Amino acid sequence: MPPVELPIKVASPQKTTPIMKYAILGDIHANLEALRAVLEDAATQDVGRYLCVGDIVGYNADPNECVKIVRDLDCVTVRGNHDHYVSENDALGDLNPVAANVVRWTRAELGPDHLSYLSGLRLVQAVDGFTLVHSTLDMPEKWGYVFEVVEADASFNYQTTAVCFHGHTHVPVLYEKASGVRRSGYKCLKATMGKKYFINVGSVGQPRDGDPRAAYVVYDGEGRDVELRRVRYDVTTAQEKILAAGLPKALAARLAVGK
Ligand code: ZN
Repeated sequence: MPPVELPIKVASPQKTTPIMKYAILGDIHANLEALRAVLEDAATQDVGRYLCVGDIVGYNADPNECVKIVRDLDCVTVRGNHDHYVSENDALGDLNPVAANVVRWTRAELGPDHLSYLSGLRLVQAVDGFTLVHSTLDMPEKWGYVFEVVEADASFNYQTTAVCFHGHTHVPVLYEKASGVRRSGYKCLKATMGKKYFINVGSVGQPRDGDPRAAYVVYDGEGRDVELRRVRYDVTTAQEKILAAGLPKALAARLAVGK
C-alpha cells in the first residue's frame, strides 16, 4: 500500500517547544467517576497540560459531562473510533453489538455542541515534539488494534517523532523500536535518544488489563520520563449509572474486574 498523507501538524524544528509535564488520558469512555479521580491524581503531579488519545465517549453513562471536562481542560485530543461513530452517523457494521448499542444511546444523549466538537477532532496530532493517535499511525482512520509487534512495526514506519502515545486496546503496553521492535509492560520508562516508542497509555474509563483501577500517563518532556499511574475510583457509582441508563449490564460488570 502506498504511503498516505497524514493530517499531522508537525511543529517547526526551529521553534522552541515548551517543556513541561503532561497528563495523557485515553479511552475515558464517559466514565465520570474515573475521570474525576484521575484529574485529582494528576493535580498532585505538577502537570501543566492535559492531552487525550481519544474515545472520550462510549460504554459508560456520562458522555456530556466527560466531553465538557475535556473541553474545559483545553485538552489536545485526537479522535477515537467511538467519538467518530457517535458524531458521524456512519453505519455501525464493524462495531460489536454492545458497542453499537451504546453508540446509538450516546448519539441521542449528547448535545449538538459536543457532537460537533467530537466531529471536528483530528486523527493525529503532534504536540511539543511527540505524537498522539488513537489507533495506529499507518492507517489511523481504519481503527486497527495494536496487540503485537507486527502491528506496532507498521505504525512505526509513519512515526516521525521519538515518542507517540496511543490507546484503543485499553491495555497499557509499550513498543520500543531500535534494530527490532520489542513489546513490554511498563510502569516507569526513560525514553532513550535514538530509539522510537509507541506507548499505550491504558484506559481511564474501562481498563482491560485485569486491573480495574483507572490508568493514565504522566510524561515529563524534559527528561523524557513516562510514568503509568493507576487510580482507584468509585466503580460502584459508575456501575449504578450504567444500569440506571438502561445500558448493557455487561458494561457495568466488567468495570469491577478490569476486563
Ligand atoms: Zn476505547
